[in-house]
Amino acid sequence: MNYDRFLKKTIQKYKEDSEYLRMLDIHVGPNVEDNISEKISSLGKTALFCTGRNAMKKLKFTEKYVDLFMKNDVNIVEYNGIRANPTLETIEEGIRIAKKGKVDFIFCLGGGSVIDSGKAVSVGLFGNVWDFIEKRAEIKRSLPVVAISTTSGTGSHVTPYAVINNSATCEKKTLRHKLLVPRLSLVDTNIIEFVPPYIIATTGIDVLCHAMEVYTLEDNDEASSAFALKAVELIGKHLHNSFYNMSREDKVGMAYADIFAGIALALKKTHVAHAISHPVTARFPEINHGHALAYVAPKTLEMQYERVDEEMKKRFHEINFALGIDSDLHASLKKLIHRLKLDKPVRKMSAEDLQTLYEDTVGYRWSSVERSPCPMSKEDIKTIIFESFPDS
Ligand code: NDP
Ligand code: MN
Repeated sequence: MNYDRFLKKTIQKYKEDSEYLRMLDIHVGPNVEDNISEKISSLGKTALFCTGRNAMKKLKFTEKYVDLFMKNDVNIVEYNGIRANPTLETIEEGIRIAKKGKVDFIFCLGGGSVIDSGKAVSVGLFGNVWDFIEKRAEIKRSLPVVAISTTSGTGSHVTPYAVINNSATCEKKTLRHKLLVPRLSLVDTNIIEFVPPYIIATTGIDVLCHAMEVYTLEDNDEASSAFALKAVELIGKHLHNSFYNMSREDKVGMAYADIFAGIALALKKTHVAHAISHPVTARFPEINHGHALAYVAPKTLEMQYERVDEEMKKRFHEINFALGIDSDLHASLKKLIHRLKLDKPVRKMSAEDLQTLYEDTVGYRWSSVERSPCPMSKEDIKTIIFESFPDS
């Protein structure tokens, strides 16, 4: 597979103008632990070992990496049980554990939720995380983070972002800073082989939305476009097969799609579908981030396509061509979501629930809506939200 060549070549091509690209150190493969052994002893004596609830323990990957740390004489302090859509309370618990254990660096083994939590702790040790998010305080220090991504979705192992739920205010917001870019970004291909179909589906749609939203930004540039379009091409090739055949090759293809879309996202930002999906998972954390996107992205794209100018329409066509499913992007997306079985409800949404999502989106997520490639009114957002959720 020549995806690694594309990754290295494209980073090389654009890195002179991008401090972010120069920071990246990405490895994908069955022996990524070699990179860890090389690096960890230089990072310190004690690591905060961040994991989720069950998957990594059950599959014995926690054990594999604990052994690796032991062999390298690095102590670990466990911060486990991290749930999907992490909350400020979860981060505060991690900060307490990290302070007590006097850790020198952070090691994350998990999906976006685990990696985001580890990243938030890495800066939260030196100040209040929500103050950083609200820009009431400036991030000046962090502990280094080593991240192994066990899902192919959020790109968190390569982005300067961590997305956090504030359960007191019911808001989901993004912490961003270059110090959040992991020192080492890894995908252990032995781990992603075990990702179950539902997670393949939801994280696959997350990758697709990162790529599509960046590619349809007014101010996308050559570097972000190159990574975003390549991600879409890989999704067209590997997502459906990954879901139905569970082949290793397709899962590795999706791991690269995730990295490419993650880099595109780090170079730019998302817009409307993500703006709506964050309030969904903030209010209803039982809904997976990618599943929330699967509900709202088709209607969003359909509405945007009708309104954008000819130049932007071309970009929609390019995405659709790279995806290679149907004749227009909206139809392709709907078909893909149906094939991935994501058009079924997770919970019943009442009119009141939808009204709340609408108010959140046009409230604290409005600046993301404003990045839409065509103007969108509050009424448009209401239409998308009220027409997007399947009946239960
Ligand atoms: P999660 O990290 O939330 O994990 C979802 C589920 O997948 C968990 O139940 C986990 O189980 C399980 N799981 C993870 N890896 C495996 C595996 N290899 N095999 C079997 N099961 C596995 O999922 P995502 O990766 O989708 O992360 C979503 C979060 O990331 C959201 O909070 C979202 O907002 C955020 N996000 C962050 C971005 C960023 O740039 N930082 C960008 C986009 C989204 P268990 O708990 O047992 O480990
Ligand atoms: Mn996302």
